[in-house]
Amino acid sequence: MSRGLRLALVATARRMVELGLSRGTSGNVSVRVGDGFLVTPSAVPYDRMGPEDAVHVGADGRSTGSRRRPSSEWRMHRDVLAARHEVGAVLHAHPPFATSLACLRRAIPPFHYMVAALGGTDVRCAPYARYGTQELSDLAVAALTGRQGCLLANHGILAVGADLDAALAVAVEIEALAEMYARALQVGEPVLLSDAEMADVLAAFADYGGPRDLRR
Ligand code: 13P
Ligand code: ZN
Repeated sequence: MSRGLRLALVATARRMVELGLSRGTSGNVSVRVGDGFLVTPSAVPYDRMGPEDAVHVGADGRSTGSRRRPSSEWRMHRDVLAARHEVGAVLHAHPPFATSLACLRRAIPPFHYMVAALGGTDVRCAPYARYGTQELSDLAVAALTGRQGCLLANHGILAVGADLDAALAVAVEIEALAEMYARALQVGEPVLLSDAEMADVLAAFADYGGPRDLRR
């Protein structure tokens, strides 16, 4: 199994912590490999995680040849990768502002045009289900329909991208939008963009060269 991909996976997970998107052992990251994927191990602090700790999960959901257990959210990673063929990497985190909104079970509405960079007119919030369950995976896949990311009620966020850097950039954008929305809510009621205004932004982004790549 590619050592380069293992190194990149762990580097992305560490970067997620450095950027304040997760802490301790919360969050997890995966990258597609053939018809399976590599995922961060369960319950291993990121500063103690090495490339050999990444766990390969096959298309049949079995992980072999690893000294670690796969992330407890391996079903969510498997199901998102199966549902979205254009996605090469999946990142789950517990960033403070986005998770605060998720605890209110509030979607991020079109209060800022960059919401469209996530693929639509809002960033949905998936209903609550316990971490690690198939139910949570099903709810997350549904909330992610047509989007690059979503909130997970009383839990955190999910972000996807063509590769690890793209998924991380989506997570950063979700947290930035959540912070701006939460701060605006403290002052008053943010003015939402209309359907026509958001359609205009979405068309402009499409003209930009397909789905907006947040790294650009
Ligand atoms: P893992 O350590 O099993 O990846 O779990 C962290 C988490 O965020 C669960 O939702
Ligand atoms: Zn979590």
